[in-house]
Amino acid sequence: MTVYNFCAGPAMLPPEVMKKAQAEFLNWQGLGVSVMEVSHRAKPFLAMVEECEASLRRLMNISDDFEVLFMHGGGRGQFAAVPLNLHQGDAPGVYIENGIWSNGATKEGAKFTQVESLNIRTDNNGQFDIQPVTQWNLPEQASFVHYCPNETIDGIEIFDVPKHNNAPIVADMSSMILSREINVDDFDLIYAGAQKNIGPSGLCIVIVRKTLLERDGLPRPAILDYAIEAKQGSMYNTPPTFAWYLAAEVFKYLEANGGVPKMQAHNQEKAALLYDYIDTSEFYSNKVAKHCRSLMNVPFWLRDDSLNALFLSEAEKVGLVALEGHRLVGGMRASIYNAMPVDGIKALIAFMEKFAKEHN
Ligand code: PMP
Repeated sequence: MTVYNFCAGPAMLPPEVMKKAQAEFLNWQGLGVSVMEVSHRAKPFLAMVEECEASLRRLMNISDDFEVLFMHGGGRGQFAAVPLNLHQGDAPGVYIENGIWSNGATKEGAKFTQVESLNIRTDNNGQFDIQPVTQWNLPEQASFVHYCPNETIDGIEIFDVPKHNNAPIVADMSSMILSREINVDDFDLIYAGAQKNIGPSGLCIVIVRKTLLERDGLPRPAILDYAIEAKQGSMYNTPPTFAWYLAAEVFKYLEANGGVPKMQAHNQEKAALLYDYIDTSEFYSNKVAKHCRSLMNVPFWLRDDSLNALFLSEAEKVGLVALEGHRLVGGMRASIYNAMPVDGIKALIAFMEKFAKEHN
């Protein structure tokens, strides 16, 4: 039975990459040892990380104005690192809130710096929407403007990029990096926990404009210090080497398979199939306004909540796993990152149709 894994993260990775990792697990590059057992300062590892960064730079078209860091601590590590590194004078950290993760970033930021938060989400009888980026009332004084382009739990995606006269734009791209084309120059700092579109959890990619490394910020642990990490080639301390290796393999795979434009088309096709089915069904619903529906995370609700447990157990029997919605919002959620094939979506829709018929 083919298993389709709809987990929000750690998520499904490309099977081709997993098979390659399996094949070279015990003997990496003919060294007779696993990549996990090699020094991060050994020549083959250094060559691998150099190519990994170059590959990501090509995939995302990242210019030399930016450093690319491979850090520890996942997405939440950056919730702390951003204010600690970017805090400036008396200016507050400005946080845009439209869901659970941007709210988490705001709360963490408030531990370290003065925070000004802007709720841009609207709730109209249980239908969620967001204010357009052009209507966000951003304060003039800001150390930075932080927002989350894709709310993994709420299934809300912001497709436009905010602008500010002088404050850097910071984006938590944990659940949408490499899923669609973006212009990196529109941002000043991008970060993304790896466990959705990149590789194993723990690793976090940080793409930071070099001029920001000159900021004093606040006293901070060296492992969260962008300038130190940049100077040390992301090796101030022992990096998560296996995750880094797997990220490099995923980037290689993406480059060999049409890169981000191809992924975007693939992701748009999958999301359209699933949302269209949900919209035409009387049995399932999605509560997000069409223009800001996530391409990566599709939450949906059954008309009758009491069928949730049965839906999940029946889905599992046919190889459709990890569809349970996040505990904070309930319902179901299909996370359909880059690695999810169109066939997975078709299998899910076929199952949903059958289940709806049987329980109508
Ligand atoms: N931001 C977003 C948008 C996320 O989806 C997540 C995790 N799902 C995080 C931050 C936190 O990441 P981590 O668990 O790696 O700290």
